Amino acid sequence: MICAKCGALMDQTDKNTFTGRVIREYECRKCGNTDWEDDGIALWQALEDLQEKHEAKVAAQTATNEEASQPEALQPAQKPPASLWQRFTGLFRKRK
Ligand SMILES: [Zn+2]
Repeated sequence: MICAKCGALMDQTDKNTFTGRVIREYECRKCGNTDWEDDGIALWQALEDLQEKHEAKVAAQTATNEEASQPEALQPAQKPPASLWQRFTGLFRKRK
């Protein structure tokens, strides 16, 4: 990437994919100007989309099978998951 301020070639300093898109960060060694560019959808995001579609398909098939063999009334009631905060404070108390 070329620096918008001085025209020098910029160095890539970082590459983030946490938003699901590849964001490349650049820094100009000459003038210190920083910039970034969007390089499109991250590979893991594309794979995740495919995986989600596949899992949704499998889940739909599994749900249909389970409904046929297990009536809902026979399934044990599920406890709501403890919040992260409760887990954290629980760990803290155990250490004391
Ligand atoms: Zn520059």
